[in-house]
Amino acid sequence: MTEDTISFELSATQREMVMSVRRLAQERFRDRWRQWQDGAFPWENMHDLAEIGVLSMSVPQAYGGLAMSVLDAALVLEELAKVCYVTAMAVLGEVGTQTRMIAHFAPEDIKQDILPRVASGDAVLSICMTEPDAGTDLGRIRTKAIRSDGELMLSGTKTLISRADVAEGFVVFARIGDIPGIDGLGGVYVKRDTPGMTVNTAYHTIGGEYLSEVVFDGCRIPESHLLVDSGGFRDLISAFNIQRCMNASISLGLGVGALEESIRYMRSRKAYEKRIGDFQGMR
Ligand SMILES: Cc1cc2nc3c(=O)[nH]c(=O)nc-3n(C[C@H](O)[C@H](O)[C@H](O)COP(=O)(O)OP(=O)(O)OC[C@H]3O[C@@H](n4cnc5c(N)ncnc54)[C@H](O)[C@@H]3O)c2cc1C
Repeated sequence: MTEDTISFELSATQREMVMSVRRLAQERFRDRWRQWQDGAFPWENMHDLAEIGVLSMSVPQAYGGLAMSVLDAALVLEELAKVCYVTAMAVLGEVGTQTRMIAHFAPEDIKQDILPRVASGDAVLSICMTEPDAGTDLGRIRTKAIRSDGELMLSGTKTLISRADVAEGFVVFARIGDIPGIDGLGGVYVKRDTPGMTVNTAYHTIGGEYLSEVVFDGCRIPESHLLVDSGGFRDLISAFNIQRCMNASISLGLGVGALEESIRYMRSRKAYEKRIGDFQGMR
């Protein structure tokens, strides 16, 4: 390899990590996947993953984490998605954007409160970005946080939010003040059960998980819970771009898992005294 060539080889440590996640997923999660199809959150799997350090991957070492790379997290998610989509999506929240935003932008008290419990699998975080009228085009976000007497007053409606039924904390993209478009966007941290906040579990997806509507109606939150002020869209979106890579990784894992399952079935299922995989049209 020359100095200006990128190596796509995985390191020995990465291979070892992938193998230990693969073993756990294949031995324990494969048989449990049906349990989560009714929208139940896979706590049992999360605690198993916490034991081998997976949920600590995005948590800084100072808070009991392993501070591993985005590539490491993507490799783990691919393995999980091969066997259980719901578990992969649950882990995405822990190794993805929300945890990294807390680690980078939150004040010390929030970090100390939530990050060690994310690492141990005891706390889950949600990210609230999408609104009924603002999906890809985030400049249309209407949820607004207004400064008032040392607090922020948050109002607005978010939709299609993963894990909102179980999350303890919410990273919310909102307009901070009155500046229109993406320049006015920032991010705040909201604790579950903040007065004025309601979570309505709205959609049961084909993958099994629930997506919720989250309403903030004049929620008063400490100004110190402002993670990113208006004008910080670049910070918000670079944090969210991590999620995009990880979504691709989950999709890849799902595809590989589906292919492996099909091959297994074609090798075992028989028709006309032959394995169905022996018919030309099945190849
Ligand atoms: C399983 C699942 C989990 C989710 N979890 C969360 C979550 O936890 N938190 C959260 O905030 N959101 C979540 N979402 C919502 C998700 O972020 C949005 O669905 C996504 O941002 C797209 O927004 P939209 O659905 O409003 O689509 P729209 O923005 O209405 O887009 C519709 C279509 O138009 C295309 N399009 C839009 N603009 C352009 C353009 N400029 N050029 C070309 N094509 C374009 C889009 O690609 C898309 O195909 C989740 C969604 C799903 C499906």
